[in-house]
Amino acid sequence: MNKYPRIYLSPPHMSGLEELYIKEAFASNWIAPLGPHVTAFEKEVAAYAGVKGALAVSSGTAAIHLALRLLGVGKGDIVFCSSLTFIGSVNPVLYLDAIPVFIDSEPESWNMSPIALEKAFKWAQELGKMPKAVIIVDLYGQSADFDSLLDICNHYGVPVVEDAAEAMGSTYKGKACGTFGKFGIYSFNGNKIITTSGGGMLLSDDTEALEKALYWATQARDKAPWYQHSEIGYNYRMSNIVAAIGRGQLTVLDERVKARRKVFERYKEALGNIPGVGFMPEANFGQANRWLTVMTLDPTETAVTPIQVIEELERDSIECRPVWKPMHLQPLFTDCMFFTHEDEISISDQLFACGICLPSGSSLTLDDQQRVIDCIKKSLKK
Ligand SMILES: *Cc1c(COP(=O)(O)O)cnc(C)c1O
Repeated sequence: MNKYPRIYLSPPHMSGLEELYIKEAFASNWIAPLGPHVTAFEKEVAAYAGVKGALAVSSGTAAIHLALRLLGVGKGDIVFCSSLTFIGSVNPVLYLDAIPVFIDSEPESWNMSPIALEKAFKWAQELGKMPKAVIIVDLYGQSADFDSLLDICNHYGVPVVEDAAEAMGSTYKGKACGTFGKFGIYSFNGNKIITTSGGGMLLSDDTEALEKALYWATQARDKAPWYQHSEIGYNYRMSNIVAAIGRGQLTVLDERVKARRKVFERYKEALGNIPGVGFMPEANFGQANRWLTVMTLDPTETAVTPIQVIEELERDSIECRPVWKPMHLQPLFTDCMFFTHEDEISISDQLFACGICLPSGSSLTLDDQQRVIDCIKKSLKK
């Protein structure tokens, strides 16, 4: 048994207001399915991000699924995807029987490389088959380089879905992440910067498209006096209780961003001078929410591998994770195309090999963070 309580990677952090909103929902018996908190939460998120509309759904993955269907993605269509991401970015491509093609990261932001994206478009052009959509991820809460990426996508006339599941509260050139594509999505999964216990949001300036998504998200029920259906639909709507939690969380989002950025600064200050130790850079075009602090180890300078450090921390009951295993390396996607940032070098492979996600919760105490720092120092001395 460990004498210390477990330190989690990114646990939920409630403000107190969530419970009040839930009580209100109970008092009015608006438990489910919809209700006033859902509508209010959508309005508040849309206003926060600066878009015309938002649709509250059951997960970030569901929001991506709806976005791709709105863009007409179907059987056999190509969708360009960031390779360095969580599987939730890409599974919706498979739900629609479409084909993902993976794009490497660039070293400045770790997000989709404009160079690799351009290569993929040239390939598609030669093939005579353009992608139906490009899904661009804001990794670990850092914005992708949207001016460069959107220039390329606009040139080829292909719409973008911004997967800002990890980047709520982050900005690119002063504008909120989640607003750069034709559609954007947030996730409120349990480990994200704010959580509703589980949920997601689809964002867009196209309110007509959001109406269509609402129809699909509620089992595609036609306007008729009986239950009539002409299209395939899903049960994807967010409940009133879940939205109540979200409204409470939204009031503290900016505080949560500040707290996570401080967590990052303390790690960097304590560990950044150790030879071979680095951190995920912050690109000068935006402000990251630092959802997770990612430390890197240069294998030529450190005696231990990231997996060894993670195991050492686990022995002290500290939860850490490797960087996402890139999608092009997943058994599920062995047959898929992948375009690299440099000819013979995959940046996402390198990041996967050297990165460690550290406990980054906004409720992480100074003492607990010191425990993590001490344990990392100890493990690096081996
Ligand atoms: C969490 C996450 C998702 C999926 O969100 P869920 O709400 O868990 O479905 C999608 N993409 C990225 C990059 C994520 O981190």
